[in-house]
Amino acid sequence: MVSFCEKCGALLIPQRNKDDTVTLVCRVCKTESKEKFEDSSYQISSRIQHTEKDMMTVIEEDFDIRPSVRIACQKCNNFEARYWEAEDRRKEEWETTTYYKCTKCGWVWSE
Ligand SMILES: [Zn+2]
Ligand SMILES: [Zn+2]
Repeated sequence: MVSFCEKCGALLIPQRNKDDTVTLVCRVCKTESKEKFEDSSYQISSRIQHTEKDMMTVIEEDFDIRPSVRIACQKCNNFEARYWEAEDRRKEEWETTTYYKCTKCGWVWSE
């Protein structure tokens, strides 16, 4: 099942609500679809893909505004990395993973 935004035509992405239901939301204009989102297997797999994509988007677009932290890079001798958090679904629980990216060599790792 693939849905597109009725306003701008962009791909809709599933977004988890506080009550654990899932709403399809346009990632461009943030319009919420009124369509019910019920296929749980699709929900899980697309959520993971979406997380990975978001991770790349963060690196490319928002990297300079991410907070930095003093942490040793595993690839070079640099001691500064920028970090951000991304949600990932593993087994039955949503986990928040912290990603780090070295400001010198660009190496990305997670904790
Ligand atoms: Zn849209
Ligand atoms: Zn490095």
